[in-house]
Amino acid sequence: MKIAILSQDASLYSTKRLLDAGEKQGHEMRAINYLRCYMNITSHKPTIMYQGKPLEDFDAVIPRIGASRTFYGTAVVRQFEVMGVFSTNDSQAISRSRDKLRCLQILARKGIGLPVTGFAHATEDIDGLIETVGGAPLVIKLLEGTQGIGVVLAETQQAAKSVIEAFRGLDANILVQEYIKEAGGADLRCFVVGDKVVAAMKRQGAPGEFRSNLHRGGKAEKVKLTPEERSTAVRSAKAMGLRVAGVDLLRSNHGPVVMEVNSSPGLEGIEKATGVDVAGKTIEFVAKSAAEAKNRAPLDRVQY
Ligand code: ADP
Ligand code: MG
Repeated sequence: MKIAILSQDASLYSTKRLLDAGEKQGHEMRAINYLRCYMNITSHKPTIMYQGKPLEDFDAVIPRIGASRTFYGTAVVRQFEVMGVFSTNDSQAISRSRDKLRCLQILARKGIGLPVTGFAHATEDIDGLIETVGGAPLVIKLLEGTQGIGVVLAETQQAAKSVIEAFRGLDANILVQEYIKEAGGADLRCFVVGDKVVAAMKRQGAPGEFRSNLHRGGKAEKVKLTPEERSTAVRSAKAMGLRVAGVDLLRSNHGPVVMEVNSSPGLEGIEKATGVDVAGKTIEFVAKSAAEAKNRAPLDRVQY
């Protein structure tokens, strides 16, 4: 098969691993910087141009769209879809997953366990918002944050009030969330491919740190999931319409709760912590799914 990895940088670990794994399995692989693609969206024969030539005859694309490039990245993925090319994750599902709030609303509707969460833009009733999630201690998050930046633990009602007021002064969108203390500064990253968790790691925050992000000094190790955790991860990816996803869970007293679902999960942390060939498993899945998709009518395949 001819498979493209849509990535801003072919030298990134995840991109390199997918290229290698694809070649090993006998596919023709190519890294394409989606920011450099341009396209004719109206012609009878929709095209994508890259380095002066049309991108033709691809069987599948694997999008790895940067968080700050969602708009243009999903436009390129959508154009491949219009051309009848299979994409591991549909453009629509990628856009959906990029909005933390929308993500939680979709998961809640499917009955998936979540930390009790409240949302506010600029509320006058701060006490009411704090009460929504059961009072302090609680976690306050900037909706736009990644890598743990903009995630604050407020231990007391007074601290919570001050932080909410400060964010309000900045005109920021914030989430207020029940603090899952019993998670002990750790979370679980479950790498979902199709209807399976192919690898899982536990990330433990640095001593005294409640955020487990590796960018904040967290350490990762292989972990064995319970059947409930596995099924929560798989159902979450499915609810978001993602075939490949990184689902982040916390171990709470009331079972696994989902924090985030990522549509371009990184391979480096998870492959190094678990020793699993996640790239190889992803390519196997893509090749099989692309072949199956060929047998269906193009318009049945994706929604815009
Ligand atoms: P980001 O998108 O910046 O990574 P997260 O929502 O994933 O933000 O939060 C960062 C980290 O903070 C999580 O990985 C987790 O360890 C910790 N954390 C977030 N929310 C909670 C919570 N409600 N209870 C306990 N720990 C939390
Ligand atoms: Mg996170």
